[in-house]
Amino acid sequence: MGTETELITERAIGADRPLPEEQALDLLHRYFVCPHCGNISRLFAVNEFYGEDGSVVGREYYLSCHDVEDLPPEEARNGTLPFRKVHHRVSSLAELEEVKITRTKPNVEVFLHAHNYDAEGRLTRRLIQRSDSFLPNSLGMLCSQMESQYATGTVTSCSGPNTGNTSSAFIDGYTEGAYYEMFATGAPSGNANYGIQVGTGTAANSTTTYALASQIPNGTGSGQLSYGSGAASWSAGSTSTTAVRTFSNSSGASVTVSEVGLVWESNVSGYNFIMIRDVLSSSFTVANGGNFNVQYNISITVS
Ligand SMILES: [Zn+2]
Repeated sequence: MGTETELITERAIGADRPLPEEQALDLLHRYFVCPHCGNISRLFAVNEFYGEDGSVVGREYYLSCHDVEDLPPEEARNGTLPFRKVHHRVSSLAELEEVKITRTKPNVEVFLHAHNYDAEGRLTRRLIQRSDSFLPNSLGMLCSQMESQYATGTVTSCSGPNTGNTSSAFIDGYTEGAYYEMFATGAPSGNANYGIQVGTGTAANSTTTYALASQIPNGTGSGQLSYGSGAASWSAGSTSTTAVRTFSNSSGASVTVSEVGLVWESNVSGYNFIMIRDVLSSSFTVANGGNFNVQYNISITVS
């Protein structure tokens, strides 16, 4: 057991050098004894902080832990955690003892990548965090597609709460020959209605979460960020797809980001549904003149 010989440690790569991304992702599939609560917990997030010369000046590792008391059965419903989650932090892998558990990779998993740049364009912080939740709307939209019948041009669409918390059909008016976008994240620059969104909320997700807790508006005023255009990528045979967006701060002061979400637009403009939402393991401070880049990477495991 132990991280010293089994893993590429900070010592092995140099304490001041960035962890390779694939190494950080490898760590996020491993289990460790939490020095705070004693649970055997999976790593949840890896943060690195950088100095002006690009060297690592600090790290944070977060473990997915839980309260000692399980939730009562009436609160522990199917589709939610049967305990109250907490994230415990260490600043070095040397504080962790790895427990060798037969490693598994989920059928589907999502990772959130965030990069924070200062006004001079220097990377100041990188986060790789396991995404907590697809939200129920993601299944409703998938089901609406599975129910579609191209041959007859008809659809029995499911409905769910849009980002304004109004119940709305995921697909409406689908007809043969008419092609509406689905699962759209390619929002144009300045459009904060869909695609990747950022906010200041820290509330936990529930099965009724319909939007970010407190979205940061698009703009250059106080507390605002300029939303860049969204993009997504995939190639044939690839086991992952990535949505990406950059946010620029021209507000005149720093802006704090605590939550991130992926909102899909469907059907026609205005049909916006939140699919994924995550509270960041710790908040980011985007400097005035700086940029904040977010990537959602959705991957599958073939076995
Ligand atoms: Zn713990």
